[in-house]
Amino acid sequence: MTAVSNIYPTAALRALDAAHHIHPFTDTKMLNAEGSRIITHAEGVWLTDSDGNRIMDGMAGLWCSQVGHGRQEIADAVHRQMSDLSYYNTFFKTTHPPVIALAERLAKLSPPQFNRVFFCSSGSEANDTVFRLVRYYWDQMGKPEKKVIIGRWNGYHGSTLAGTSLGGMKAMHGQGDLPVPGVTHIAQPYWFGEGGDMSPDEFGIWAAQELEKAIDRIGEDKVAAFIAEPIQGAGGVIIPPESYWPEVRRILSERDILFVADEVICGFGRLGTWFGSQYFGLEPDLMPIAKGLSSGYLPIGGLLISDKVASALVDMPGEFYHGYTYSGHPACCAAALANLDIMEREKLVERVADDIGPYLQARWKALGEHPLVGEARMTGLVGALELVPEKGNRRKAFDNTGTVGTLCRDISFRNGLVMRAVRDSMIISPPLVLSHDEADQLVALARKTLDDTHAELK
Ligand code: PLP
Repeated sequence: MTAVSNIYPTAALRALDAAHHIHPFTDTKMLNAEGSRIITHAEGVWLTDSDGNRIMDGMAGLWCSQVGHGRQEIADAVHRQMSDLSYYNTFFKTTHPPVIALAERLAKLSPPQFNRVFFCSSGSEANDTVFRLVRYYWDQMGKPEKKVIIGRWNGYHGSTLAGTSLGGMKAMHGQGDLPVPGVTHIAQPYWFGEGGDMSPDEFGIWAAQELEKAIDRIGEDKVAAFIAEPIQGAGGVIIPPESYWPEVRRILSERDILFVADEVICGFGRLGTWFGSQYFGLEPDLMPIAKGLSSGYLPIGGLLISDKVASALVDMPGEFYHGYTYSGHPACCAAALANLDIMEREKLVERVADDIGPYLQARWKALGEHPLVGEARMTGLVGALELVPEKGNRRKAFDNTGTVGTLCRDISFRNGLVMRAVRDSMIISPPLVLSHDEADQLVALARKTLDDTHAELK
């Protein structure tokens, strides 16, 4: 079959896209005035567009392509599975080999308290499952008044009703009267932007104790759970001060509430551990997963369920009225299994911890010297550059937040590197297969982009 990109020139594709396709998280009118970029091919960490330009995928798609693009092995595994059993559901007392194999694999890979998984197709669906399951759990435990879920401002947990509500993105809440009732938000551990006069560690303790205060304010008997990303991704790669997670752990150990670590970005090696919770020594009760589970080859997500929470399902009578047509889709499970095979065989998680992680971190952090950069931070293979108008003054932000970030993002793409802009910070989260040479190229392209942006602002 001939690819559409081979039939139509770029301009015609753009016109068709503008005429018929509504993009996620997009000002459609503005996009259609500019025209979209058309990606036609990808291999390893490199994308090719419809004009033949090569662009480095510094974001691993959307934080998901751990093993890089174009792995024939995954395509073959999906093809084989589709030939055997393209689809069957897991609802009415049925199951199938790939979903069983993946569930067992995840139980082995994850921390010891996790032995069960509920499957879905995305991180948002995983967090909808969180919303419903924590309430079901407390109902089963005879404490139905424990309903409130505490999230964090600027956290991101997806864009369905539950995902948007659990997340703390004010712009998203502003559309459609969200959050839904029963969700509350506390401060995020974003020292660079919100730390005021406090040292990072003082601020980390302060931000953690906001959880304690919220539990006391609402009443522990009414709080069902706290949800947080180990490192906030979409919020701008917010790496908490070192004091933050130990203090949250102390608070959680004293309180009878569930802890949900959203591993949709941090899971599957991003921080050099299989799960971000392991990097920070956290012991969650629930872990939503997606993205890196299949490296984005096919859509699959899930909720890892600890033995404590699973007891409400497996030891107690009652049906949990929840499920999706594509829960445990066989072809998606096959893609995830093949992806995990590659990750284990190529030791990608260890690579992030001991090799490419430290290699890129050192070079990325050196960009902190650039006159446009207020802070360069990175853990594992996820990092950010805070762009500032006045070097050395983190209190002063650009006027019209986001304008400089968007400019820098567009320049970066033109220079051949995908970076994402969050407000006025630049984000990268490259595939875990990035080579040393590619890491050098990434940093050189980022530096050139900073120079070009700086020149344009003068
Ligand atoms: N949770 C986190 C931490 C995420 O970063 C995302 C997406 O970026 C989601 C949930 C939602 O995942 P999805 O877009 O697959 O619904």
